Amino acid sequence: MISQPTFVAIIVAGGRGLRAGLPIPKQFATLGNRAVLRWSVDAFAAYPACERIIVVAPDEDAGFALAEQICAGSGALVIRGGIERIDSVKAGMAAAGDATVILIHDAARPGLEGCQIDHLLAAFRDPDIAGVVPVLPVADTLARIEGGYVSGDIDRSGAVRVQTPQAFRHAALLAAHASWNGPATDDASMVRANGGIIAIVEGHRRLNKITKEGDLEAMQSILAGGLPQWRTAIGNGYDVHRLIPGEGLWLGGHFINHDRRLEGHSDADVLLHAITDAVLGAIGAGDIGQHFPPSDERWRGASSDAFLAHACTLASKRGAVIDHVDTTVICEAPKIGPHREMIRASIAAIMGVAIDQVSVKATTTEKLGFTGREEGIAAMASVSLMLPRHRAQGD
Ligand code: MG
Repeated sequence: MISQPTFVAIIVAGGRGLRAGLPIPKQFATLGNRAVLRWSVDAFAAYPACERIIVVAPDEDAGFALAEQICAGSGALVIRGGIERIDSVKAGMAAAGDATVILIHDAARPGLEGCQIDHLLAAFRDPDIAGVVPVLPVADTLARIEGGYVSGDIDRSGAVRVQTPQAFRHAALLAAHASWNGPATDDASMVRANGGIIAIVEGHRRLNKITKEGDLEAMQSILAGGLPQWRTAIGNGYDVHRLIPGEGLWLGGHFINHDRRLEGHSDADVLLHAITDAVLGAIGAGDIGQHFPPSDERWRGASSDAFLAHACTLASKRGAVIDHVDTTVICEAPKIGPHREMIRASIAAIMGVAIDQVSVKATTTEKLGFTGREEGIAAMASVSLMLPRHRAQGD
């Protein structure tokens, strides 16, 4: 048995860049938990015979930067492309080294799977072929249009839809590009025009290209099996700090003038501490004392928004999306009502969520207990968030 050839993958993600006023190019749109482009990068990265992944990005700075950001940590090499597709493929080939087989793939076809690469590579057991492409039959009747009216039929016998990735012997691809003049949309036509035999393998609807409105939603349902299942996680937090004589206190990152202050190692923002614990609880990451021990001098007088921001960063690194935050402040004084909206805005800003995702309530304990005697303030918080049930590959 002939062993499988190793190959270099060139993903063409150039095309229209990020010019102002236009919608985001489809290859950069979000599909499930990743950008459309990243789906193909991850599929190649998971394939053992793939030696190198070259992503040919738009030439202009914004598009190039976005492609780099999307590919971060994948091991793919991101380079600048040209105006036409053929220029981008040439740029990719120049970075491909001495690979024996090159796979050229459109970034706007995110449904690539390893089994499709298997079929393409297996075709090279035939020494006579220069390349191989995935094709699907044309099911609909084809017609020619002139002046807005049907002017004739097109014979569909023998017609197929050609998809990507298209795989080529490197030498045949180089020769075809070297001898080609003029525009081209398809590398297989160039190799064939140069005398190369192009084999076919069966395509798949997963390899359909995302081009128009609605395609993203259609692909989302095709890929549904590969998307993460989300689960809702809830965390709660509770904190108390002592009231002592002083001038004002921090509550939810908002300063309130008062004839007392809260005592603590940090700024003693009892409400932010409760929310921080709720976020940590929802992701199962311990409690605020573990992350910011009171014994650590670094946190003396610290502003508590740093604690909450840290917990939110931990959550987002795990793929969490914060859904809602509900809080209750328990005290006789100061009155929370006049400060409620500013406290909500402050918490929302620290957590990077909208104000309507944050609720701030207050209650007294009818002068009972330590809060009733105004010896301290207590705060409770609940946070709900969405977590991916299965971590996606490459995360
Ligand atoms: Mg505390």
